[in-house]
Formats: sequence, structure tokens, C-alpha cells
Amino acid sequence: MEFSEYKNLWVFIETDDGKAVSGGLELLNPGAQLAHRLGQQVVAVILGKSNDEAEKTAIAYGADSVISVEDDDYEAYSTEGYTYGLVQLVEKYKPSILMIGATIIGRDLGPRLACRLKTGLTADCTELDVDTETGHVAWTRPAFGGNLMATIMCERTRPQMGTVRPGVFKKIAPDASRTAKISKERISVPEGQIRTKLIESIREAVAEMVKLEDAEIIVSGGRGLGGPEGFETVIKPLADALGGAVGASRAAVDSGWIPHVHQVGQTGKTVAPKIYIACGISGAIQHLAGMSGADCIIAVNKDPDAPIFGVADYGIVGDLYQILPAMTAEIKKLKT
Ligand code: FAD
Repeated sequence: MEFSEYKNLWVFIETDDGKAVSGGLELLNPGAQLAHRLGQQVVAVILGKSNDEAEKTAIAYGADSVISVEDDDYEAYSTEGYTYGLVQLVEKYKPSILMIGATIIGRDLGPRLACRLKTGLTADCTELDVDTETGHVAWTRPAFGGNLMATIMCERTRPQMGTVRPGVFKKIAPDASRTAKISKERISVPEGQIRTKLIESIREAVAEMVKLEDAEIIVSGGRGLGGPEGFETVIKPLADALGGAVGASRAAVDSGWIPHVHQVGQTGKTVAPKIYIACGISGAIQHLAGMSGADCIIAVNKDPDAPIFGVADYGIVGDLYQILPAMTAEIKKLKT
């Protein structure tokens, strides 16, 4: 394999109903930094039925250029269809690096695509770097239950592929005045290649899903709540008063008090809100792995020695069932 034939860093821009979603957009900034250090471009790659809006968004968020494939075959995501389209593009353009957000779709697409391209993929990365001498990306991800960080390089094949955890990197402020070249491609998926068909899309379910990764304020509850009611009686009212989302520790999720979609941490979501309020959460390393990127951490815990106070900017020692209602009442008062 002649590495010199491969250049530029691609970011797969996932879309939902024609709109670019965060998981890909937030990779454009770190992608641009790596690509520019190599003297190359960050290229947004979009597959969809009608990509105008997503193309503009990707450029506003820092893409140097865009490759856009529009076809009815890409209206809804399918593993086979998207793999087919991307394989054709990679074989034509030969990117050196291909990054995908580790969303549900990205986790499905990445490994399939890597196998088709006979290259390596590092899944669920939390740090990125590049060796400017060799062009090898240093993909870093937690390993062995988060007890160590593994840095993996793809030294023998191209493109180098990785999925990156949503929420780890922050999007830059969009600049709608940016312009960039858009290359339009037409790739139809051969008849019979797509073996699954989207019959119905249930929007209500999506609307109810917690967008923890996008939330600016998160109020999280842990085992200290003592039962599921605490989420309804104290956590959600505070989150609502602040216009935030509800998170949870794994202990609360494993106890069946709240669905896994709310879990923050190593085996849950990585979040980077402006304010993270941890209530009745001890601060285990696996929980911290998902929220230590928050700008401001507030901890409420009755144990003054709880490890969460070691990372908190503000700590309140006491019973959360007394403190949270008082906070909610004060915030409501301030708003009136
Ligand atoms: P606890 O550790 O039991 O802490 C409860 C806290 O509540 C205590 O500090 C206590 O003082 C306080 N408290 C009790 N009552 C009150 C009250 N009335 N008022 C105020 N404070 C009170 N954990 C995650 O969260 N996310 C993950 O993604 C995750 N992934 C993991 C992956 C692996 C491989 C492993 C091994 C573990 C993982 N864990 C994860 C589990 C983690 O190690 C902890 O067990 C878990 O985070 C503990 O949850 P907790 O803080 O809610 O409960």
C-alpha cells in the first residue's frame, strides 16, 4: 500500500432528517487541527437524500471542503447502503484518516466499513493526536475497564479509522459566512444490496430521548437517592427549573430506577455541560470518566469525605432531600 496516495482527514457527518447531528460536527474542530498539522484538509462527508442544510452546517463548523452524496438510497440510514456508498468514496478519493462519531449509527457503520476496506479501526476514542513525521494518528481510548488508556496506531493500512465518543470534543462556534468547495457525487446502491427497510419512524420516542451530550446543565442522581422516586421528586424538578437534562450514575441505572440512556460515565455517556450537579453520587472513577470535562461541577452529598468533592468546584454537604428542593425553590424565585 502506497501511503503517499492517501491524503486528507474525513469526518463522517451523520444526519437526522437532513440535519447534521452533533456526533460528527464536533469532530470537525479536532479533525481540522490534526489535518492542518499534516498540511492536509478536513473534509466533511455527507450521505443523504437532500444534503443542502447539512453541507452548510458542516462548513460553518469548520470543514475545509465537503463531499456530498445525494440519493433516495440514503434517506434513512442502513448499514449496507451507507457502507456501500462510503466504500466507493474511499476508493475514489483515498483519505488518509476517517473519523466517525461513536453514536449508535457510527458504532454500527465504523466496524463494517473498516472490514470492507480491510483497515484498522479504534473504537470509542477519547483523545486524538498525530505523529507529523509518519502521519499516523494516535487514537486513545479507555481499556481494561477504564484502568488504563490505550493509544493505538494503524501503521500498515489506510485509511486510518476511528470512532470518537460524542461529548468529548466541543464544537466551535459556527461561522455561517464560511465558504468551501462542495463536491457532489452520485452513487446509487445496487438493487437488493440493502436488506433492511425503514417502515416507520416514531418521532415521539426520539423527542423524549435525553440529549445529555447537548445539555448545558445536567442534574444527576445516584444511589444516594435511595429509590426511583427521587428522580421525580427532587432531581427532575431541579433540572426543569434550570432548563437542564437528567443524568444518573450506573448504580441508579443498575437498580432499575432510571433507563440506561441517562447513564453518565465510562459505560454511559461522556458529557461536557457548563454545569454538572452530582447528587448522592460518590464520585467513582468510572463516573468521573464521563463528566470531568464539565466547566463547573457541583456536588451534593451527605458524606464530607466522598471522592466527588475532590473534583467539585462547589460542594454542599447534607441530605439531598433537603438541599435540592431548597435549590429548586431559590432558582424559581430568581426566575420570577
Ligand atoms: P455509591 O458509590 O453507592 O454512592 C452513593 C453516594 O450517595 C454516597 O457517596 C453517599 O454518601 C451518598 N448519599 C447517600 N444518601 C444520601 C443523601 N440522602 N443525601 C446526599 N448524599 C447521599 N458508574 C457510573 O456512574 N457510570 C459508569 O459509566 C460506570 N461504568 C462502570 C464500568 C465498569 C467496568 C465498572 C467496574 C464500574 C462502572 N461504574 C460506573 C460503577 C462505579 O464504579 C460505581 O459503582 C458507581 O458510579 C457508584 O454509583 P453511585 O455514586 O450512585 O453510588
